[in-house]
Amino acid sequence: MAAQDPTTSTTTTGRRPFFCGNWKLFGTLAESTTLATEVRNGVATLRDVDVAVAPSFTAIHAVAKRLEDGPVAVAAQDCFWEDKGAFTGEVAPGQLADAGCRYVIVGHSERRQLMGELDAAVNLKARAALRAGLQPIVCVGETLAERDAGETLGRVQAQLDAALAGMAPADVARCLIAYEPVWAIGTGRNATPAQAEEVHRFIRARVAAQFPGEAAALRILYGGSVKPDNIRALMAEDDVDGGLVGGASLTAESFVRIVKEGSRPW
Ligand code: PEP
Repeated sequence: MAAQDPTTSTTTTGRRPFFCGNWKLFGTLAESTTLATEVRNGVATLRDVDVAVAPSFTAIHAVAKRLEDGPVAVAAQDCFWEDKGAFTGEVAPGQLADAGCRYVIVGHSERRQLMGELDAAVNLKARAALRAGLQPIVCVGETLAERDAGETLGRVQAQLDAALAGMAPADVARCLIAYEPVWAIGTGRNATPAQAEEVHRFIRARVAAQFPGEAAALRILYGGSVKPDNIRALMAEDDVDGGLVGGASLTAESFVRIVKEGSRPW
């Protein structure tokens, strides 16, 4: 995200930094609304940055109410691909929009790995989210074995192509991509800025090949043990436009520091 306009945190590319806290399976209603309030207060004076938080399903509505009319948006951590029907236990994108979500994370590696979610399901979910007016945050990323085998770009390409299959350019314009190397999630081990940039640049080029009008504005987030002390170096890379933050988003103090560090001009 280099080439900053010195008067704002928006870059000359026009891509506003975006930071989303993924609260995973944490938080009672009281804890979630308190954390949301603290995040809202912490980022209240910031300009030229987009901020979202992704609570558990049960807390989405309460958090959305708490954040209403403020600068922090609400994301869901997953959705189903059908709009309604006999699908016990699932949550439709339209229901998430109704509860106050603007974004939904799809294809998170924890879902791919622990729940067996396949590329085709990620595509269905992303397209269902778009139908409901949500903006999908599509996660891609390689495992450590894939990286060690030199398969990083091939794996990311396959996940990306599958996720965007069947989308129109206007759909892609509403998506965000999160590059999250699986070996860096929740491990304390993050990709170096150069490793992140290599994949982010590859993602943008791959999107440009299919959607030439949309790639330049596409926001590509990095995720994987993002912390207040490493976000700045990551954001200094041309194609890193923000962060999807897990563990470090569970306290407002560290998440707000990440947002501030990652969005201030340099
Ligand atoms: C995530 O949940 O998307 C994530 C990147 O987690 P962490 O920041 O804890 O690695």
